[in-house]
Formats: sequence, structure tokens, C-alpha cells
Amino acid sequence: MADKPAIRSTTGRGKLFQSILDTVGDTPTIRINNLAPDHVTIYVKAEFFNPASSVKDRLALNIIEEAERTGALSPGQTVIEASSGNTGIGLAMVCAQKGYPLVVIMPESFSVERRKLMRMLGAKVVLTPRAEKAYGAYRKAVELAEAKGWFLAHQFETKANADIHESTTGREIVNDFADARLDWFVTGFGTGGTLVGVARVLRRERPEIRIVLSEPANAQMIGSGIEQRRTPDGAPLVSHSAWEPHPIEGWAPDFIPLVLQEGIDSRFYDEVIPIAGAEGVKWARALAQKEGILTGISGGSTFGVARQIADRAPAGSVILCMLPDTGERYLSSPLFETIEDEMTAEERDLSRSTPSAQYAAGD
Ligand code: PMP
Repeated sequence: MADKPAIRSTTGRGKLFQSILDTVGDTPTIRINNLAPDHVTIYVKAEFFNPASSVKDRLALNIIEEAERTGALSPGQTVIEASSGNTGIGLAMVCAQKGYPLVVIMPESFSVERRKLMRMLGAKVVLTPRAEKAYGAYRKAVELAEAKGWFLAHQFETKANADIHESTTGREIVNDFADARLDWFVTGFGTGGTLVGVARVLRRERPEIRIVLSEPANAQMIGSGIEQRRTPDGAPLVSHSAWEPHPIEGWAPDFIPLVLQEGIDSRFYDEVIPIAGAEGVKWARALAQKEGILTGISGGSTFGVARQIADRAPAGSVILCMLPDTGERYLSSPLFETIEDEMTAEERDLSRSTPSAQYAAGD
């Protein structure tokens, strides 16, 4: 019989944090216990432990602090960015703490809770039409930045993006697996910052680790092999021809970002595995219901790919999968479509099965 668990105790982090910004990073790597096949071990890196609940807190903080270091951003200057939500939310947290006004440009297609979170954190949110895709939001941000003299965060092009993943995310992985086997690292891409920053470290320090890049099955820009056309400064010139609308929010904008181009040119991944949005939703629900791990559709999609690798991996293999954000960011999205807010028939039966505090609504 298994040992009964002892009462748990904790000791605190041993320091007083001077700002919310000091809590960014150092996210835990967590073992999967119920959803991995018996012959392999899967770990997830849970980025929803960041203070604004996504991997993009890292980049948001570094973009602003890099601009402060170089003088590109002056005190009180307005910051502007085009974002599918998580970068906007991360920037809103950083700008609130540091006192910069923030304007986020976002296509209307992303979940409404994203807009509300940014506004709650003090940012302004300017929506762009769904038909104009991520590229349209990007153009709008460039235009407004030029017209108003605002600081454009440039997440898709800036060096500050992959650099912070090299000095934090990648470093954390290498340290957490210092004495442990790791065979595969699995990630998707939005800007490509996570892939490029982590891969710089792994290729250098753990070259035996295979890196898998995933993208939506109906928007295989990398799989197509078709190059992105760019302006001389690396920005996209047109929407990529292999792109189609997909439900994996935060993944694959309708162009291959310059940040990701370094990953393509440096062969920072060994394999590209596509996954359908519906599979990602399925695995995000499974992670919630079988592991108690609440992540978004991109996390579910990355996990779905990790599971495919697990099925064919030799016994004893170890796989690490990125979970970029929290499932709470998707209450109005297909992820929660089948989750009721009224009582189900079974719950009503339970309510009626004893006399007190019966709730009649929904009958
Ligand atoms: N998943 C979600 C939900 C995201 O918001 C993002 C970033 N847009 C990613 C994955 C991908 O991260 P990266 O930009 O580092 O490639």
C-alpha cells in the first residue's frame, strides 16, 4: 500500500519581493502523472505561474527594460504594441508598475477576457477587423506609433524577445534538468521568442536534446517551406500564403516573424509537427480534468504533440512541453464551449436528493 501523505509545510521564498516585476520567470517544471504513457516521462513548464499568467511576461518586462537601458523609451512616454493578448497583458502589468501609458492593438477575433484584462490593468485597447488578421493589427500599431511619436514594442522583430528566453527560460530548463535526462523539448510559436531563446541554450549546452516545433495543422507556414517576404528592416511585407484562420490563440500569426527566422536559419528545431486546434482543445481539457493543470489552447496543442512523440519514443525517454498560459484566459472561447454555467441534470438531481437549500433555477 502507498504511504499516506504527511501534512505539507512550506518555508516561504526566503526574500521580500520589491516589485511584482521581480516575480517574473522561474516557473516550475511539473511531472505529468496521469496523461503520459507508462514507458516515458512528460514534464510541463507551467508559464501561468508568471504574475500576469503567461510566458509573455518575460518578454514584456525585457522589452521595456531594454528600452530603458538604451534610452529608446523616455519617462512617461506612451508604449504601443500589436498583440494577440498575452503580450498586451504582460506589457499592461509592466507599464502599470513603471508608470508608462499603454495602447494595445488587437484583432477583434481574440477572446474578450483578454481585452478586459488589459483595460483592468490600465491599458487602452484598440481593436482591428478580423479580416485584416494579425498583419492588419501590426500595420495599425506601426502607423499610430509613427503618427503619435510613441514607443513601439516590436515583439516580432526585437532582439529583446529571444534574448530574455535565452537568459531566463532556457537557463531555467538547463538548471532544472542539470542532473536529469531530457530527450525532447516541444514548443509552438507566436513570435518564436520561446523557441529561439531556449534553443540557443539547449544547442550549446545540451545538444543531444531534440527540439520539436509545432504549428496549426491548417496554417503550416513552416511546413510549407515558403519564405516570408519582408521589408528591409525585417517586418512582414505581406500575409503568408500558407496561413488560414485557426483557433490556437497566440500561435502562428499570418506571417513568419523575424524573431522566428533565426530559428529557421539556425536549424533550431529537428522536426515540425502540425496539430489541429480541436486536438489542442481536447488535450487542454484533459490536462485540466486529469492533472489539475489549467492551460490554454496553445498549451493543450503543445501537449498533444508531446503525447504523439511519447507514443513513439523509446522506453525511458523524457519529454518537456511548454504550457504558455492559463486556461482562465479562454472562458468565452471554444475551450470552455462544453462547460455549463447552469446546473446539469445530474447536479439538479443531487440538489433535490436532500431537503435543504434546493436551487430551482434551470428546471
Ligand atoms: N501561446 C500563447 C497563448 C501565446 O500568447 C504565445 C505568444 N504570442 C505563444 C504561445 C508563443 O510564444 P512565442 O511568442 O514566444 O513564440
